[in-house]
Amino acid sequence: MEANFFKVMGEKENPTRLFIGGLHGKEGLSTIHAIKTVEDTDIKEGKLVICNLTTSPYLSTLDPLYYLSLAGMKVIELIKKYQPTIYLELHCYHPDNKDKLINNNRKDLFGVPGLVELEKGVMIGSTSPMIRSVFFNLNDFPFILEIPCNPTTESLEISNNIMNIVAGSCDRSQIMEKIGRIYPRQIELLEEYFKEFSQNFWPAFQEVKKKASETKLKNFQDIDELIIGIIGKEGFNLNSVQLKQLGQALMVWHEYSFQNHGFD
Ligand SMILES: [Zn+2]
Repeated sequence: MEANFFKVMGEKENPTRLFIGGLHGKEGLSTIHAIKTVEDTDIKEGKLVICNLTTSPYLSTLDPLYYLSLAGMKVIELIKKYQPTIYLELHCYHPDNKDKLINNNRKDLFGVPGLVELEKGVMIGSTSPMIRSVFFNLNDFPFILEIPCNPTTESLEISNNIMNIVAGSCDRSQIMEKIGRIYPRQIELLEEYFKEFSQNFWPAFQEVKKKASETKLKNFQDIDELIIGIIGKEGFNLNSVQLKQLGQALMVWHEYSFQNHGFD
C-alpha cells in the first residue's frame, strides 16, 4: 500500500484534530493501515486532518535533530498550519523494542515516562516534550499511539477504537473520560504522568522561555546556565535528561516560533 496519504474531514474549525502516521523510518508502511481505518469517519464537530508520511531516515522524535530533518519539518509545518488542540501521532514498533518503550526506567534514560499498554500491543503516551511544550497548550491532547509493526487485525481494531474516540471528542478531558471507561487503570497512570509534567517540566519550560526572551543568549553554555539557575531557584523535580530537553525544546521554540529573535 502506498504510504503517502492526506485527507481533511469536517466543515467546522473547532476543534481541529490532526493525526499523523509514519513520522520516521519505515513506520508509514504500517501506520497507513491504521490511518485508513478512519478515512471515512463522519466528523460532526470541528475538523479532522489525517496524514501518513512516506519512508524517511530514522531519527527518534526525542532527538532534537528530528525537528530539523525533512520529515520533522513536514510534521511541524502541519502542526503550524492546522494548529490542532487534539493531536495524535501513530508509530509502530518491533517486538524487540517493546520493553524499552514500556519500561519504568524510560524516564531516567529518555526523559519521558514509559508508554502505557492498552491491549493487543497497542500503547499510548505523550508526544515528545520538544513539541508538546512548544506547539501545544497544557490542556491540549498531544498523544502518540504505538501499534506493532505489520499490525494484526486485532491491533488495528484497538487503534481504530481509540482513533474514533479521539475523532469524536472535543477536548482532552472528554477523550480521557471515554478511554478511561474502557481502560481505567491505564488512564489513571497517564493522569499521574500528566500531573507530574504539569508541575515540573511544563512550568520550568515557561520560565526558561520567559528568561530566554529577556536575556541575550550567545551559546549553549548560556542556555545551560540559564536552565540550571531556574531549576535551582524554583526547585522543579527534573532529571539530567529532562534538563537537557528543556534546552532542546528552547531551540525548537526559537527555530519555529520566533525566527526573528534567534540566537546571535
Ligand atoms: Zn516511531
